[in-house]
Amino acid sequence: MSRAFNFSAGPAAVPDAVLREAQAELLEWHGERASVMELSHRGAAFEAMAAESEQDLRDLLAIPDNYRVLFLQGGATQHFAQIPMNLAAQDQTADYIVTGAWGQKAVAEAAPYVRVHTAASSEAGGFRSIPPRTQWQLTDGAAYVHYTPNETIHGVEFFEIPDVGDAPLVADVSSMFLSRPLDVSRFGLLYGGAQKNVGASGLVIVIVRDDLLARQPRPMAKILNYRAHAEQHSLLNTPPTFAWYLAGRVFKWLKAQGGLAAIEEINRQKAALLYSAIDSSGGFYSNPVQRDCRSRMNVPFTLHDSSLDAPFLAESSAAGLLALKGHKMVGGMRASLYNAMPLDGVRALVAFMHDFARRHG
Ligand code: PMP
Repeated sequence: MSRAFNFSAGPAAVPDAVLREAQAELLEWHGERASVMELSHRGAAFEAMAAESEQDLRDLLAIPDNYRVLFLQGGATQHFAQIPMNLAAQDQTADYIVTGAWGQKAVAEAAPYVRVHTAASSEAGGFRSIPPRTQWQLTDGAAYVHYTPNETIHGVEFFEIPDVGDAPLVADVSSMFLSRPLDVSRFGLLYGGAQKNVGASGLVIVIVRDDLLARQPRPMAKILNYRAHAEQHSLLNTPPTFAWYLAGRVFKWLKAQGGLAAIEEINRQKAALLYSAIDSSGGFYSNPVQRDCRSRMNVPFTLHDSSLDAPFLAESSAAGLLALKGHKMVGGMRASLYNAMPLDGVRALVAFMHDFARRHG
């Protein structure tokens, strides 16, 4: 078996170079005579790796000193609930900007802990655009404003950080994290699961501004409390040690690629190539998203005749192009183009799509 070009939305492709390093270190890591997953998170070797990975992430994103970086568990889904628990009192209002299915889920999970106000939503238009900022109905004194910079299912991405005034901006960066530079100082809190651009599932990275950790709006178990995790440097309990280690490897790989500006340029080229193939297919393929907010990371597209979906999937898979089936909410296909997808993978996909359209057109 050879490795395919993997277009999965997540868990998703990990750079070959990172997997080879992990493979080489699987039996023995760092002269410890055991693998990283077999060693205590209280040991010096793990603590050194943890500190180094955090520093590498700080370097990549130029994270200011007044932000803590937390390496946690629970998936982004758990943090949908943990964020209101930590940032808002029960009777406070938090504003949500909903541009797709993940924003909707964030609203549903937050609702037991805060007064959720949907300040803008593109649901009526089928989540194909971003509501203009002038139409957002933000609440004065909101505890925070939450949005989803990239909607993984609907393929809608913000390329500008919205200005929301004084309220801390909270962003679910799960499917665009580290795909391009991001000005962390514009945010109160950023969070995302690792299984798309940062390696393996089981790890959630939270980047939070110090002053928000002081809020403490309700009594809660320590394990849910971001401040408790920050005080213990994410070692309050056993962290997902292997996923953390792998994330550290991905950060080093990103640095070796030239950092986030360099990876952004490649991501730009990949997305341009695929959207151009879709748009120039004479209607054989189509993507419904308004052009200025088409995601660079997740490209959903449909075939003009859905009876061709099954042959498209079977033939693409046989051609070494994996996991192109779209999410059931939107149907059709989806190609996820995270950092680990090389330009050659997108070239191979586009060539396959041309050939498929020629044969079935
Ligand atoms: N937010 C976004 C934008 C996502 O893409 C996903 C996963 N696809 C989630 C949240 C949920 O992540 P998890 O399964 O890690 O809870």
